[in-house]
Amino acid sequence: MSTIAAISTATGNGGIGIIRMSGKKCFEILEKIFIPYNKKNNEINGYTIKFGYIVDPETKEKIDEVLVSFFIEPKSYTTENMCEINSHGGIVVEKKILELCLRNGAEIAEAGEFTKRAFLNGRIDLAQAESVIDLINSKTDNEAKASINQLEGNLSKKIHSIRDKLLDVMADIEADIDYPEYDIEEVTNSKIKNILEEIRNDLYKLSNSFENGKILKEGVKTIILGKPNAGKSSLLNTILEEERAIVSEYAGTTRDTIEEFVNINGISLKLIDTAGIRETEDKIEEIGVKRALKLSEDADLIIAIFDGSKQLDKEDYEILNIIKNKKAIILLNKMDLGDLNFENDDTIKKSCKNIIKISAKNGEGVDVLYNTISEMFKTNEIAMNDGVIITNIRHKNQVDKAIKSVEEAIVSNESGLPIDIVSIPIKQILVDLSAITGEDVSEDIINEIFSKFCLGK
Ligand code: GDP
Repeated sequence: MSTIAAISTATGNGGIGIIRMSGKKCFEILEKIFIPYNKKNNEINGYTIKFGYIVDPETKEKIDEVLVSFFIEPKSYTTENMCEINSHGGIVVEKKILELCLRNGAEIAEAGEFTKRAFLNGRIDLAQAESVIDLINSKTDNEAKASINQLEGNLSKKIHSIRDKLLDVMADIEADIDYPEYDIEEVTNSKIKNILEEIRNDLYKLSNSFENGKILKEGVKTIILGKPNAGKSSLLNTILEEERAIVSEYAGTTRDTIEEFVNINGISLKLIDTAGIRETEDKIEEIGVKRALKLSEDADLIIAIFDGSKQLDKEDYEILNIIKNKKAIILLNKMDLGDLNFENDDTIKKSCKNIIKISAKNGEGVDVLYNTISEMFKTNEIAMNDGVIITNIRHKNQVDKAIKSVEEAIVSNESGLPIDIVSIPIKQILVDLSAITGEDVSEDIINEIFSKFCLGK
């Protein structure tokens, strides 16, 4: 494999910048462009750092004063010889050093190529490699914890334990096919049944964990519903202005939707269509029941806000109808104006059990809202739990495929088909699961996974 190089730190000015190289020729290239301060020390030892200068070998121009860390194969991130040049953080210096590496024999690394090499060289499996990008992209503590859990190989261990059970069954089946004179088929049939049912249970648990995993990874998809003047934008502003709410904006899929992430008690809320809320300057506009219905369909949480200083009207009842049987919180707003008019309204009480009095304007009651959200999405427990959580849609699809194969195998086993026919879907379960850890996966899929990485990782 070629020797690759890339700038691994984020672009822009910073305290330091890191240029990484990996491959057979990495120390040879480094020798041409790096002059250690202690010139007598030519030895290269793994896990050591040398101080010195990067100098252009042609012009003799000194580029920067740097620290270089050394990793000797196989004890490195990629399992190849590696070095990391810690320069001063500034795009000009970093680029010049990278160019020197390239001019002296390195090739520019593709996105994710260092991690891809760690995978291809067998240091980590595919599920672990995918957790690296999840860790980098984590928006909350819990999400990072789930990624670390996967990086440590907990999902892979679970998959391997299921695979071992299947291999055990396969060994029995092979014995049965190879030595038909021994009458062991009946034992094998009941053994297959038990093990397949056990595996189906394990796989169901994994598949179901995806809902929690998705919330950890993508945030709780939240919409704020309420008719004009109920206080939606005041609530939004109060949430966004809170010190603890870390906000980031992402352009949504359509031109005018904005998704905003806020971090509330460690739970990431993905607020949908907030642009729409802010835009309704002319308050005459109807809430658009159809639109509200559509948005609420795939929301994980609906916050329905009502103007508590007024009586409920037809539109309010429509909103109450929408949130029935959904994960929702009712906010009775404008409590600062005195007694709320419909606190004891039966329709309200029936449509949702989380009812909170607040003042979106002065922030009263917002704490209760936050605590309620934490209670509803106890991701703390999810992340702490050493149970394995699936956070990645590719893994979930593979697990679901495996479940189908398990069911097929159970049916053919129960209907008394010959054992070699039963073994076909069992082999397929192995294939489906191996794609998660990467033992059996096409090059296209591998390339697609790593193309989502950042450069230098
Ligand atoms: P939206 O149309 O649902 O986004 O409602 P706004 O947030 O724009 O609020 C409508 C009006 O109600 C504005 O004049 C706000 O100042 C006022 N308002 C919102 N929340 C409160 C509150 O908690 N107390 C009081 N007194 N007024 C509020």
